[in-house]
Amino acid sequence: MTGMKHVCVYCGSADGAKPVYRAAAEKLGRLLAGARIGLVYGGGRVGLMGILADAALKAGGEVTGIIPGHLHKREIGHEGATRLVVVGSMHERKQKMFDLADAFAILPGGLGTIEEAMEIITWRQLGLHDKPVFLIDVANYWAPLAALFDHVIAQGFARNEARALFRLLPRVEDFLPALAEAPPAGPAKPELL
Ligand code: AMP
Repeated sequence: MTGMKHVCVYCGSADGAKPVYRAAAEKLGRLLAGARIGLVYGGGRVGLMGILADAALKAGGEVTGIIPGHLHKREIGHEGATRLVVVGSMHERKQKMFDLADAFAILPGGLGTIEEAMEIITWRQLGLHDKPVFLIDVANYWAPLAALFDHVIAQGFARNEARALFRLLPRVEDFLPALAEAPPAGPAKPELL
């Protein structure tokens, strides 16, 4: 797992409908802390975000939250985080989360999570980075998104290689082994554009 010191996790600011989502966030937080991998996340205390951060902190992990000032109240900025960075905008938040991360894990989440996942996946398609991206498919949550990718490819709007821009992992327990197997991120290749 050389070089994989910080993982950025995107996940819901809600708990989701099934207890299994909360359990997955809790487990991922614990696993990252146990592996001495720093967690970078959106900085809130709400929903899966809060569960994830609390679990990592409880297990002795390093947690960096990045939250825009205007969301500090709504998402309840996590004052217990190792570092809580308050930024000026959503764009700044996403850039900072991206810059700090060696890899990305995406747990179930809502529209914000989907937006963040799509951005990081499309940046990889554009050659702007080559950091590994993992969708953690808790209770098949991301199956419709994977199906959408297949549809987009089948209809000629993306190349077959688009399916390799992320790895779909069935369970949270698969994350650390998958991260260990992932080659360290190479340089960005914007010349592929
Ligand atoms: P959600 O998945 O909708 O619960 O949101 C998860 C996180 O994504 C929250 O911290 C939101 O502030 C954040 N978020 C919501 N919309 C966006 C967006 N357009 N770009 C980046 N992050 C967002």
